[in-house]
Parts: sequence; structure tokens; C-alpha cells
Amino acid sequence: MTDISALSEADAANELMRLAKQIAHHNKLYHADDAPEITDQEYDALVKRNEALEAAFPHLVREDSPSRQVGHEVATSPLSKVSHEVRMMSLDNGFSDHEIREFVARVRRFLNLSDSEPMSFTAEDKIDGLSCSLRYERGELVMAATRGDGQVGENVTANVQHIADIPQHLQGENLPDVFEVRGEVYMEKQAFTALNEQLMEEARAAAEAKGETFDPTKVRQFANPRNAAAGSLRQKDASVTAKRPLRFWAHGWGAASEVPGDKQLVVMRQIEAWGFPVSPDLKLCENAEEMLQHYRSIGERRPDLPYEIDGVVYKVDRLDWQGRLGFVAKAPRWALAHKFPAEQAQTTLEAIDIQVGRTGKLTPVGRLAPVLVGGVTVTNVTLHNRDEIARLGVRPGDRIVVQRAGDVIPQVVDNLTRDEDRPAFIFPDHCPECGSEAVAEEGEVDVRCTGGLICPAQRTERLKHFVSRAALDIEGLGEKTIDQFFALGWLESPADIFRLHQRREEILALDGWKEKSVENLLASIEAKRSPDAARLLFGLGIRHVGAVTARDLMKNFHRLETLRETAELAGQAPPLQGRGRSRVAAEGVGDVDQALTQPDSPHPNPSPEGEGLESSATEALVTLTSIDGIGGAVVEALGDFFHEPHNVAVWEDILSEVTPPEYIVETKQSSVSGKTVVFTGKLETMSRDEAKAQAEALGAKAAGSVSAKTDLVVAGPGAGSKLKKAAELGIDVIDEAAWAEIVKAAG
Ligand SMILES: [Zn+2]
Repeated sequence: MTDISALSEADAANELMRLAKQIAHHNKLYHADDAPEITDQEYDALVKRNEALEAAFPHLVREDSPSRQVGHEVATSPLSKVSHEVRMMSLDNGFSDHEIREFVARVRRFLNLSDSEPMSFTAEDKIDGLSCSLRYERGELVMAATRGDGQVGENVTANVQHIADIPQHLQGENLPDVFEVRGEVYMEKQAFTALNEQLMEEARAAAEAKGETFDPTKVRQFANPRNAAAGSLRQKDASVTAKRPLRFWAHGWGAASEVPGDKQLVVMRQIEAWGFPVSPDLKLCENAEEMLQHYRSIGERRPDLPYEIDGVVYKVDRLDWQGRLGFVAKAPRWALAHKFPAEQAQTTLEAIDIQVGRTGKLTPVGRLAPVLVGGVTVTNVTLHNRDEIARLGVRPGDRIVVQRAGDVIPQVVDNLTRDEDRPAFIFPDHCPECGSEAVAEEGEVDVRCTGGLICPAQRTERLKHFVSRAALDIEGLGEKTIDQFFALGWLESPADIFRLHQRREEILALDGWKEKSVENLLASIEAKRSPDAARLLFGLGIRHVGAVTARDLMKNFHRLETLRETAELAGQAPPLQGRGRSRVAAEGVGDVDQALTQPDSPHPNPSPEGEGLESSATEALVTLTSIDGIGGAVVEALGDFFHEPHNVAVWEDILSEVTPPEYIVETKQSSVSGKTVVFTGKLETMSRDEAKAQAEALGAKAAGSVSAKTDLVVAGPGAGSKLKKAAELGIDVIDEAAWAEIVKAAG
């Protein structure tokens, strides 16, 4: 990341644009898709960089700047760092009864205890919050720090002053000189739901006040109570924390000048007496069977608890034994977290709706009686496809079990009323949107509408895809607007978007549109008159041409027309080895390669006429299939696309409205040019996206997983299995600083 003082205005403007997009993208993943791709820390780093740039270049602050968006946390800012005097540990996990019995046996073996020697464990709920260490000196709170990486956390002393569960002064006499109480800051389920509703309402009100159209997908809500607690605590402005209903309970201690007891439970009761809440389920168990019983009892009550827990923690009660047991790596040998399986809930499947996607795919969506699972109210659940419905045997009216683990989207795991005598759900054989036949191709599970261009659902979905972030990225042209304009007959194809300026007055006459919002919409459309060719190609939604494939194609052809000519020509290439083109495609590029790289072998299917055309067609096919990452399916899909006159009309129409510049990826020569790089672990100075972009700019390929094809692994802290695999394969591994050196060396 470049030092801000060294940035030119143009560079700063570019970076601000990129940051606005990235942050909006992650907001959407976080909120709308409930699937964050980056950690809170990585998100915060983007926001911080944006703030710093805006402070240095105030005149460049964008209309769509993340700092102007209301209702989400942008102010999580430089909290100072605190080193923990005693490291904050993590816990080993166990899942099965067997693992718990084994843990108890292991402790006995380690301590060399006979079977008759009594050995107790404390057991308490493992609350899903943010770990904190609170340092008291002679009974006064002097420092509060988050766990961080266990050794260094963030200073949240000002923030925790607003948490009523955390005493500023310990109660009682004879207080130790130094005592660090450790526990979890958390948010109760109800408070979490209310907070998200409030964030949404604030954003709506702010948009209305500014006369803008309200886009709920731009509001950053919290994915779960743990995120809400973390986001609320880690605020630069502690007055924000003060407004959030945070709670705390203690589960242990860190540095201590003296420990008030020789047993875990005794010390916890003293901490409680000093004024801290502790788990209401904290109790002593004498053996593994009692521990398992307590676990099951808590598990049964878990859905009704006001807070989220994800397991039960067991600790050896005698502190002298804890001392002898010590630690392995980052976790104590004397404690174990017994995790719960993914949270499940029962509800009624009220209806099964069929959604029609861009490619005509019919996706069944279950509408549920609202139910709280894993801290989130679930009302819809995807049923994936016809086979999944058959597997579960679900019909409207069934009682079903819904499961949700962590940030994962909810899924149906069981049908409790499968045996009830009711007719099976009949998957439609016609498109619910256009009435065309809906069929599954042989060997495919997905049922697709065959209506193509006459299907309104497919047409609007294609338009939505065309304007989406990864494609043309037209701000302000949201899904509802597209549906509305489509219904009015204003948007037939992508090119019509660029003719909307002719309807300025008509749009203004619609409900909810004001001068300013129409102006913004038309301006963001006009800004895309010279779009990136790869994004435009991707936006057209050609089958098998995803964002990466589109870039690979454009890197090779530079101009869309060159791609079209080649694809059309390749579509006329003769069948190879007497088989149809589709067969070749279905069997992959390997066959094509083989046939084409044997120049000495006789032509597989010589044709008496049109030798000239045939050889240039074959040449085109060679050109296409020799591009790295382009397989037979892509070649066939491109051929099919340009074979269809409707598609050619759409293509020519859009290119009469927009002019993508020649697609040139400027690559610098570097020591990694032509190599495949994998980034893993946490990157400190840049986002994953930025790192990948750097790799591409250096002529390297950024891959997602480590394989024999990988040349280099850039590993940050927390790199796990990928690092291990790299070591097994003998692949070079460097850290982020060494990567920065490579980037710097390339200029
Ligand atoms: Zn249809």
C-alpha cells in the first residue's frame, strides 16, 4: 500500500473509487448474502484506508463514499494496541462423547492418578462473544483489552466503561494488587435483532431526508450477535458503544498478584463476589458422565437461552493440577470446549415458490413460518432443485428441521412429517413466469425454462446481471427499478439502459423519483459509456463465460469484435474424428488438443470443398482452445451464442451505445511473471483483492488453492492447511513483506 503522501491526485481518486466498490461489495456480502468473505479486521483496514485518503484529499470524497453511508460501522478506528502480560489462550474442541471421556482419561494419565483418585471439573456455557481481559489494580479498573491474537489486543478501556456488567471498582476488602478478569463481551439475541432493525430504520430515514432512493442492500447489518458485540465494542468513539446493549460475563483470569483460592470454582465464586456475572450454569462435575449429562441439559435449554452459546467448557478444578498440566501450543491441557452441533429448529414449510434465474433455472425456495436459528430469524430456505425436494419428500404443510451453523446459509436437514398421507409436491414442468416448457437436460439435475427471450424472468434477471457489480456495475439501477422499468416496457435489452436518458421526464413522473435521484441514475449510466470490455462480455451472460473467463478471453483478443470473429469462425470448424461439435465440447478440451497437435496425422474428416474456410476455422478453434483456462464448453457456448440471430442483435445493439476501449492488461516484468501465486492467511497491509490485482499486474496468476501447479505461496499469520500443503509439495513460501519487495522491485 502506497504511503498517502506519495500519492498523486489521480492515484488517490482511483484508489478511493476502488475502495468504495470493495467496501460496498463486502457490505453486501455481509448483509444481503450473510456470507462475509473477509474478517472484520480486513474490513476495518479498508475503511481506515478510505478515511485516511479522504482526510488527505477532502476534495476527492465521492458521492458514494463509504464514509457517507449511514447505518453501518465505519468508525472502527485506530484503537491502540495492548500486550497481554499473560497470553490469552484458545481452547481445544471436542464434539463426541468419546472425545470427552478421552479428555478426562488423558488428564488422569498425565497426572498419573489412580482411577479411585477423585478429580473434578468445572463446566459452564461457552458464550459466543468477544473475549476481553480486564485489569484491576488495587480494585480499580485500569485497562480493558480485546483478545486480539492472544498476545496483543486492542485497548477498549473507554468502551467497556459503558457496560454495566463490568464494575469500575471491585467490591469487598483485601483486594489484590493486580488481578486480570477474563470473560466475554456479548449481545443478547433480542438486542441483536433490535439493533439490526434500528440500523435499517436509521438508514431509511437518512435516505428519505436526502431525497434519495433507499437501497436496503447498502445498509450494513450484523450477521450474528457475536459480530454485533465485536463491532459495537471496537469503536473509536466510545459513545457509540454506550448506545449498544452489551453484556459481559467472567470465565477466568490472567495476570494476578495473588489468586484467591486453590480451585477453579472457588476463584470464580470470588470473582462473582467482586461484582461480575458468571455463567448461571457454572457447576462442578465429578466425572465424565456428569459432564456429559450437564452438556445435554444445557443443550436442551439452549434454544431458549437469551444469548448464543456454542458449547460447554470443562476445566480441571484443582489449580495445582492445572499448573502441572500446562499448555500445548496455544491451548491449555486442562480445559476443553465441548461444542454443540449446528443449531437446529423446527418450523412449518408454508409454501414452495419457484424462482426463475437468468439462465432459466427453476430454483425452489421454501417459505417458512419465521423461526430463530443460530440467532437469526429464518423465513426462506433454498431447496436447491427437484432432486433435493424428492430426497426430503417435502410438501407445503410439512414440519421440517432447519439448520444453521455460524455464518452459513440455512438448510433443511429433515422432514418430520414425511409419512403423513398427503400428495407429493409436483415440480413444475412449465415455467411459472412465462408458461414455456421447463425441462432438465439429460444428466442434469437443474430444470430450466426453455422460453429464452420470451421469458420475462430470464430477461429481467439478465438485465440485473448486466448492471451487477462484477459486470457493468451501474450504481442506482437496483433490482426493483429494473423490474419496474421492464414492466413499463422501457428495458428490453441492455442497450435500452443507455437510452433511458430519453425518458428523463417519464422517470421523474414515477413515484419515489426526485430530480436528484434521476440525475444520479442517468449520470452513473453515462459513466459506463466506455466500459471495460471483459466486464461487458461477462455482463452479456453467455453460458460458461464467467468473470474470470471473460478476462482470459479479452486478454487474448483485446477487442470484442476480434473475439466474435474468432468464435464465429471456430463454430464452423469441422467435426473432429467424426463426432459432432457438441460431443467434443462435452468431453472437454483434451480431445481437441490431441487432434490439433498432431499435424502429421491425416485430417480426421477431410472435406472436399471449402478447404480454405475449414483451415481458417480450425485455426480459430486452435486459437480459442489454446488460451489458458478456456475449455471446450466455453468454445461451444460462444459458438452457440453467435449462431443465434437474437444474440447478435443484442450484441450489435449494445455496441452501438457503448465503446469499450481496447482491452490491454499492462503487466510488468518481474520475478513472478508467468507464475502461479497463492495468498493465504491474514494480509496486514492490503486486502486479498489488492494482492491478487498486484499479482496479475506482475504477470502472475493468483490461484485460490495450493496444488502442484503453484509456484509461490504468500503466507500471512494464521495460514493453515494451505501452508502445510505447500510444505508437503516443496513450494516456496514467503511472507507479506517479501511479497511487497517483489512488487516494489517491479516498479
Ligand atoms: Zn420462463
